[in-house]
Amino acid sequence: MSNRPHIHYSCQNIDEDDIAAVTQALRSDFLTQGPAIETFEQAITTYVKAPHTIALSSNTAGLHVALMALGVRCGDTVWTSPLSFVASANAARYVGASIDFVDIEPDTGNICAKILGAKLRDAEKNNTLPKAIIIVHYAGRACDMDAICALKKQYGFILIEDAAHALGADYDNAAPIGSDPRSDAAIFSFHPVKPVTTGEGGAIVTHNSNTADAMRALRSHGITRDAEKFKNPNMPAWYYEQQALGYNYRMCELQAALGASQMKKLSRFIDSRRTLSQRYPKLLKNLPITLPPASDKSGWHLYPIQLQKNRDDVFTKMRAANIGVNVHYMPIHLHPYYQQLGFKAGDFSHAETYFNGLLTIPLHPRLTSDDQEYVANTLREIVQQQ
Ligand SMILES: *Cc1c(COP(=O)(O)O)cnc(C)c1O
Repeated sequence: MSNRPHIHYSCQNIDEDDIAAVTQALRSDFLTQGPAIETFEQAITTYVKAPHTIALSSNTAGLHVALMALGVRCGDTVWTSPLSFVASANAARYVGASIDFVDIEPDTGNICAKILGAKLRDAEKNNTLPKAIIIVHYAGRACDMDAICALKKQYGFILIEDAAHALGADYDNAAPIGSDPRSDAAIFSFHPVKPVTTGEGGAIVTHNSNTADAMRALRSHGITRDAEKFKNPNMPAWYYEQQALGYNYRMCELQAALGASQMKKLSRFIDSRRTLSQRYPKLLKNLPITLPPASDKSGWHLYPIQLQKNRDDVFTKMRAANIGVNVHYMPIHLHPYYQQLGFKAGDFSHAETYFNGLLTIPLHPRLTSDDQEYVANTLREIVQQQ
């Protein structure tokens, strides 16, 4: 066992300004449904350059609301990446849709546009085209938007970006992830390991104002308070109207105040993640491991490496050295819940191969150069003993 403090793979970065912002919200007149939500949503709209932002209790809630607002329901099919957190697929199940997966590119871990194109061609022949596709910008690296949006144009599916890893990251053309008007919605997460945090939280961004209105209502029971939208005319001042079956997926003022304060530091957080990502290739030279392809556009939410053998043993030894390595992710279709739906090992071989050697090593803004060298040197020793 090492005596060093535990080094997380990722963690929140909270300073006195954040604490002051939350304290101020606590002293204000509103703990929920107040002005901090709008301030936070505006900060995201400005940063991401998408006209509408809807903050909610989590990214998972955002995926659910987005699918509902875009009309995905029982009888429809949704496709997503097998190399993701289970929420990307679970959201489809919440609305009663069937789920299927599209295999990944072996180097980036993102959904492969070529495989997607071939699968869509087959689905068209069999009359089984998906209603929606949820792409995942894995580790903060943008998917191939031009190729995927060309397929969207050809086949007419709804395109949702699970951007849980990707707030503050850029597309290949250097525009912020979330700003692409060709997609129907992009959804961020503010869990503590993500680029900025609200404790728990998420946000949808969209370019469509009708969809945004529907999402805003679904976040809060399907209720509207906008008299111009009421179905019942001439109602008194106290009246509000439930028009759809929504949920309580609201974010509270304390979370929004923290989020707005965190947004001021996002570009600095991303810069430090990018700088750290450039150091690992130098520190991990000449080892039998594959590193993620370099990128100055990725937000580097994760630094996923591929070991040639003994991943589980390396994992245990790194943890014993107080290094918070992780595995992002066991492919979704290998979880018992999805196996019970009929998926099996071998169905998505690129994702499975990627997973077999996969290890996430620490990378976050509070990781010091000294920490990073300790991580790299410890990994070198362990891998060389294998
Ligand atoms: C974290 C994460 C989610 C879930 O986000 P929550 O805010 O915790 O609901 C969904 N998809 C991906 C890819 C994630 O990494």
